[in-house]
Amino acid sequence: MNLNVLRSSFGQLVGRVPIPEALREEYADYVLKRQERITLPAVIVGTAIMVGLFGLDISILPDILGMAADVRFGVVLPVALALGIYLYRDTRPIWVHYAIGGGTALLYGTLACILVVSSYAPLAPMYLTANNVTVMFVVLILEYPPALAATMAVALIVIQAAILSMSHAASATLLFMMTGISVSIAAAGLYGNIRMDRDRRLQFLSKQRDRQHLRALASQNALLERLSALDPLTGLSNRRGLDAVMTSAIADAQANPRTAVVAVAMVDIDHFKLFNDSQGHVAGDEALCEVAEALAGAVAGSDLVARYGGEEFAIVMPEAEPLALEMAGARLRAAVNKMNLVHPSSSTARTVTVSIGIAYADRTLLPSMTPQILTEAADSALYEAKSGGRDRVVVRACKIEPEPFKISWNKDAI
Ligand code: GH3
Ligand code: MG
Ligand code: MG
Repeated sequence: MNLNVLRSSFGQLVGRVPIPEALREEYADYVLKRQERITLPAVIVGTAIMVGLFGLDISILPDILGMAADVRFGVVLPVALALGIYLYRDTRPIWVHYAIGGGTALLYGTLACILVVSSYAPLAPMYLTANNVTVMFVVLILEYPPALAATMAVALIVIQAAILSMSHAASATLLFMMTGISVSIAAAGLYGNIRMDRDRRLQFLSKQRDRQHLRALASQNALLERLSALDPLTGLSNRRGLDAVMTSAIADAQANPRTAVVAVAMVDIDHFKLFNDSQGHVAGDEALCEVAEALAGAVAGSDLVARYGGEEFAIVMPEAEPLALEMAGARLRAAVNKMNLVHPSSSTARTVTVSIGIAYADRTLLPSMTPQILTEAADSALYEAKSGGRDRVVVRACKIEPEPFKISWNKDAI
């Protein structure tokens, strides 16, 4: 049985969760973030215990109290302080965390063993059981990967056994008892460590899955948002998109002193009911798409063409010049005429034509301007174009009527 087979059967036994190759780097970051919240508090708690045990030293190691004080206050405390400050000041790579946590545990474990074997007090050998706190720290508290935790625990137990066997208190029974207790505690702790490692991986993977779901949801939402502002037949903006663009065009124009006017054109296909009646609804739909395309191709880059509803289109012109509006309307009308789409039942032309009403609001009106007012004004201009014979453009300026206060549109052409 080779090492990999052994590893995978052990992995199955403890329910190990492998991290996919593509997520390894993110997992390493995740582990580092967790470790950053663990090492410093663990060093502080471990040091507090190590220094606090001086209280027990007074009754258990009375013959070496001076040495105990030197070790606990002269070595342990300054070392912990220096490491704590070093960790606190900056982000450190993961290996530094492992080195500091593990190194401190080994140092404290070794120092504790040296203290215990230096004493001739009767209870001193039993005091070695306190060393198992350090074993618990390396296998459970520090959240090390199982292999590292196991290595650290073995190192601690070997150091303890070596120091004990070289001491004056050495006895096979004591060595056997202390090592047995430590090994049992390390084994139980390691089992916990492996379970924690598994939970950590599962937690990471489930967070990743949640994040992926959220990302997918966000992009679906964005797609729905885009679709909800589009007209499915022509692919142009629909009413919803139009209102949003008009509102922001009015706001942008107010903020930009170089914008002269905001204009809206309402475009309505002439005698379209008759077109449908004679050519059928499918041909009518196709004609609507062609008109939409022609209009979209005849506007400036900053203009927005929307399907207002039925056979009516609206065009927002956010950076219009009043004197150029007639020409912009003429361009739109010509683009539709150029399609040369035969309209056999029209009483005004042989091909499909449009009537266009354009309304504009100059800077002085912008503060009280709304999409609704502008659209109504353009609608009124469109009505004029229809009643004037169709296939034509009418441009009107919105103006304020003083009494009662109300915005209306100038009946005189510019
Ligand atoms: P006018 O010149 O006065 O605008 O006459 P018109 O016939 O174009 O106006 P009217 O409002 O009487 O009729 C509009 C027609 O547009 C009615 C309907 O058959 C047609 N229409 C509206 N929406 C659609 C559509 O999505 N597809 C098709 N094929 N026809 C549509
Ligand atoms: Mg209409
Ligand atoms: Mg019409």
